[in-house]
Amino acid sequence: MESISSALSALSIQTEKMVKHAAANSPESWRSAVADVATSLGFPTSNYTKTVVFKPKTAKTATPVPVVLIAKDDSDYNTNSVAKHLGHKEMRLAAPELLKEFLNASKDDVSALSITKENASQLVAVLDASLATSTDHFAVHAASSEQTLFMTGAEIAKYLQSTGVKLEVIDFAKLKAEAATPVAKASAPPSSSASAPGSTQGPIPASSKASAAEAAQILDAEQMGITVRKEGDFPEWYTQVLRKGDMLDYYDVSGCYILKPWSYFVWESIQAWFDAEIKKIGVENCYFPMFVSQQVLEKEKDHIEGFAPEVAWVTKAGSSDLERPVAIRPTSETVMYPYYANWIQSHRDLPLKLNQWNSVVRWEFKHPQPFLRTREFLWQEGHTAHISLKEADKEVMHILDLYRQVYEKLLAVPVVPGVKSEKEKFAGGLYTTTVEGFVPTTGRGIQGGTSHCLGRNFSHMFEIMVEDPDAPEHIKVKGRAKGKGKGDGRRKTIEEYEAEGKLLVWQNSWGLSTRTIGVMVMVHGDDTGLVMPPRVAQIQVAIVPCGIGVKTTAQEKDAIWDACDQTAKDLKAAGIRAKADLRDNYSPGYKFNHWELRGVPIRLEIGPKDLEKKSVVAVRRDTKAKTSLSVDNLSESISTLLDQIHDDMFAKADAEYRSRRKVCEQWDDFTRILNDKCHVVIPWCEVEACEDEIKKRSARQATQGEAEDEKAPSMGAKSLCIPFDQAQFGDITGKKCPQCGVDAKRWTMFGRSY
Ligand SMILES: [Zn+2]
Repeated sequence: MESISSALSALSIQTEKMVKHAAANSPESWRSAVADVATSLGFPTSNYTKTVVFKPKTAKTATPVPVVLIAKDDSDYNTNSVAKHLGHKEMRLAAPELLKEFLNASKDDVSALSITKENASQLVAVLDASLATSTDHFAVHAASSEQTLFMTGAEIAKYLQSTGVKLEVIDFAKLKAEAATPVAKASAPPSSSASAPGSTQGPIPASSKASAAEAAQILDAEQMGITVRKEGDFPEWYTQVLRKGDMLDYYDVSGCYILKPWSYFVWESIQAWFDAEIKKIGVENCYFPMFVSQQVLEKEKDHIEGFAPEVAWVTKAGSSDLERPVAIRPTSETVMYPYYANWIQSHRDLPLKLNQWNSVVRWEFKHPQPFLRTREFLWQEGHTAHISLKEADKEVMHILDLYRQVYEKLLAVPVVPGVKSEKEKFAGGLYTTTVEGFVPTTGRGIQGGTSHCLGRNFSHMFEIMVEDPDAPEHIKVKGRAKGKGKGDGRRKTIEEYEAEGKLLVWQNSWGLSTRTIGVMVMVHGDDTGLVMPPRVAQIQVAIVPCGIGVKTTAQEKDAIWDACDQTAKDLKAAGIRAKADLRDNYSPGYKFNHWELRGVPIRLEIGPKDLEKKSVVAVRRDTKAKTSLSVDNLSESISTLLDQIHDDMFAKADAEYRSRRKVCEQWDDFTRILNDKCHVVIPWCEVEACEDEIKKRSARQATQGEAEDEKAPSMGAKSLCIPFDQAQFGDITGKKCPQCGVDAKRWTMFGRSY
C-alpha cells in the first residue's frame, strides 16, 4: 500500500483521500461503501472503474501475458474486437489463480493500481480512451476491495505509464462500431459467460438491445460462472456452486453457514413430505429446550462418550460465570428421557412417539464443510417408546424406508439401506440402520440418515417402565409395593425389574439432517452449476423472453412479455412452480446463465417465432436437451417432463453408484478398488478388531500408491453398512473374510467416507 502511495505522490497524484471500507465484492456494495465520501469530496457519485483480467489464448507451453482491461464501469466493449486489436485470436477471463499469480489480487481487489513496477513487464494494460482522457474523478480500488481512492482518468493513465507496463489506449466505442455485426439471434444458445447480477447497466432501449446483450455476456463474467471443473477441483467447485447457485452464504462463526431461501426450500420440501408421513404412523411434534444440564447429559455413559468432545457449553452470562455451566444439545436422548419416565406410567401410555424439528450443535474441529459437517445443523429427531422389541423393530425399518424415499423420491439420489457394524452403531444403542449415499467425484460414501433401535439401555438408565400387562397377578402386586428405583442404593438390573413384573420400554431414535442437501448438490451438480431435482426446486420452470432485436417493435415485445407472464400464471395455476424472468435490463443469455447456475430444471424460451407457431422451447437443465412444446396442454407436458427429469436424474446417479460398488474376495484387490473411487463389498467376519485392521491396512496401502483426492487426507476404509439386500451379492456360504480369513457372516460395504 505504501508503495502505491509513494508511486502516486511521485506523480503528484493526491492520495490523502484514501477511503477504507468493508470489502466490496459487488458493484452495489462498493457504491454504498464510498458514495457518501465521493459526495463529501465533491466528486461525481456515479463514476466507478472496472478492471477485468483476460488470458489470451496461447500455446500451452508458453507463459501467458495477461491483459488487464480498465474502463469506466458502464462502458461497453467487445472482447473479440479487443483481442483482435491486440493481435490475439481469442481472450478468456483469467482464472482466480492467474490473478493471484500475476497481480497478487482477487477479482474484487484488482484495479489499475494492481499493476506495479514489479509486475508491469509480465502484463499488458488496456485503457479505454474515454477514461484515459477524462478529467473527472473516478473511484478506483487501491489494489484492495477494502480501499478506494479517487483519481481522474488522466491520472490513471499517467500512473500506468509510470509503471512501465505495455499500455494500449483503445477507443472502445469506435472499435465496437467497426466490429458491428448483424444482430445475433437472441434465442441462440447461451454463451458460457454473462455479466454479474451487480452489473451496472440500466434499462436498455430496444434499439441498443443487441449490442447490450453482447456486452452483458462479458461484463464481470467471472463473478457469475463456475470457474473450476467438478472433476478438477471438487472442494472449490462445491464452494462455488453453493455460493453462486445462491444456496448459502458464509458466516463469521467458523463452521456455521446461512441457508438462503434456495436451499431452505429443499429442507422445507423434505420437512413437508416426511412430516406428513410420520404423522400417518402417529408421531407427534414437540419442542424441548436446547440447553441441557451436565448431570442429565452425562447420565448415560457410553452415549456421552460418543459426543463429549463436541459438546458446546455455556459458561457465562454477561460477564459473570455460571455456577453450573449448561450444555447445548448435541442430540436430545438425555434431554427428553427423564420426562418420558414421568409421562409413561402405564402400558396404555405406549407407544409414545415424539419428534422435534430443531437444530443441534456439535462443536467439531475437523475441517467444516457446508451441509456435510457444520457446527450447528437442522434436523429432525424422533424419539419413540414401545412395549415390545418387535414393535420397535418395525418402526425402525419403516422410518429408514421413509429416509430412503426422501433421497430417492425427492432428491433423486440413490442410497443403500443397511445396518451398521457394532463399531459404527450409535453409542448406547442396540443397533443402527442407515441409508448410505455415494459421491462419485471423490468415491466417498456418506451416511444419509440413521434410524436406531436403542433397546432398553436408556429406559434402564432413565427408569422408563410400565407394569407388564402380561405378568402374573401376584408378581404385579409385589412389584407395585416395591415401586421404581434402587432401594439398596444400586440400580436394579433389567432382570430384577422383570422379576417384579416391570417392563422397561423399548426405545428408538431416528434423525435426518440438512446434510441431505449437500449430498444432493454433490451428486447432481455439474460444471455449469447446480442441477436441482424437480421436486425440491423452489422454481421448477424459468420462462425467458427471447428473440427481441433491433427491429422488434414495442408491440411485438409487449406480446412476448405478456405471453411469458401468462404462461407462468397458467403453470402456477396447475401447481407448477414457474417464474417469468421479465427483468428488462438483462439479456436472454444472461438469464439463461442465471437459471442454469441455480439448477432450475426447465427453462422455457418464448420468442416471436414461438408465438406464431403457438409453441415454446423447453430446455432441460440436466441434459441441456431442447424440445419444442405446444402451448396446448402445456402444464400437462411440463408435469410429465419434470417427472421424466426426476426419473432420469435418479437412473443416471443409480447406475453410477451401482457400477462403483465392487465385490472383492481377495485382500490384494481391496485398496486398488478403493483407490479407483469405489466402494468395496466383502464377505465379512463382522469382528470389530478386523474392522480396525481393515482401516489401518487400507490407509497404509493407499499412501504408498498414487495420490488420491488432494484435499482429503489419505484415509482408510471403514464399514459403511451391511446392506439389507444380501442376495444381490450372491451366496456367502463358505466364503472367508479377505482380511482375516475367518468365516464370513454377511456381505458388508466398506469405503472411504465423509
Ligand atoms: Zn475379518
